Amino acid sequence: MKLHIIIIFVFTCIRLNTGLNAQVFSNADLKITKLEDKLWVVETTDKTTMYIIEGSKKAMLIDTGTNCEKLDEVVHRITQKPLYVVITHMHLDHAGNITPFKDIYFHPADTLLMKRLKPFYGKVHYVNDGDLFDLGDKTIEVKHMPGHTPGAIVLIDRSAGNCFTGDAFGSGLVWLQLWPFSPIKTYIRSCDKMEKLMSNGINNIYCGHYPYLKKALSIDYIRNMKKLAEAIDNGSAPSPHPYEIHYLDISGPNPTITSLNGVSIVYEPSKIK
Ligand SMILES: [Zn+2]
Ligand SMILES: [Zn+2]
Repeated sequence: MKLHIIIIFVFTCIRLNTGLNAQVFSNADLKITKLEDKLWVVETTDKTTMYIIEGSKKAMLIDTGTNCEKLDEVVHRITQKPLYVVITHMHLDHAGNITPFKDIYFHPADTLLMKRLKPFYGKVHYVNDGDLFDLGDKTIEVKHMPGHTPGAIVLIDRSAGNCFTGDAFGSGLVWLQLWPFSPIKTYIRSCDKMEKLMSNGINNIYCGHYPYLKKALSIDYIRNMKKLAEAIDNGSAPSPHPYEIHYLDISGPNPTITSLNGVSIVYEPSKIK
């Protein structure tokens, strides 16, 4: 066997053995891929993302996508452990499919966004900065990171060095142009808080629209976001361009986009201070 064929053969065996990056389920709405031991990413056809984390006693579903048929049954194929359903923020593409679940968890500052969703008849549990979810052999910690929405949270798995950020820092590009608007200084504080957290052993950011990137982001991404946000605040950001996509009719009247070091921020100039 030639050397390159041997290398491909060995590499394929390793992948089959570990099962990492292996697609484990798909249907018309989504596909599920194993990212790490006890961690799966769910990518929907409309490019939203959910994550499933399994502990020794309980499991967690992070976000629910826009509209996925029988999501509860789909998740049950991956884990049969009792499930926490935690929503990073209450936008439709993250909370659109909460209805099959009896209990959901999110930050109270996003309650005002719930009226844009289908009615939810289950039980709402509020989470706040510092709250912990005990999954048995791992604990998931809540950190409040307002900016994209007032109640945006990230979920931290310190044992794995992972953080699940929803749209709090975007997926290459963050939207700050949406009602209810937060001042840019709020977002800068969140970037600062996230940078400090990551300096203490959090290596991977798994963002809320994984299909655009197909990889975890690092602390450099947060540093670049903070630099750009500070530049918008002090007036030194590269000239913004009009941003054409209006989202759920809750964008400001003249959303603009500016970019620096490979990251972008969409904002509404009249609402950013
Ligand atoms: Zn989103
Ligand atoms: Zn969002």
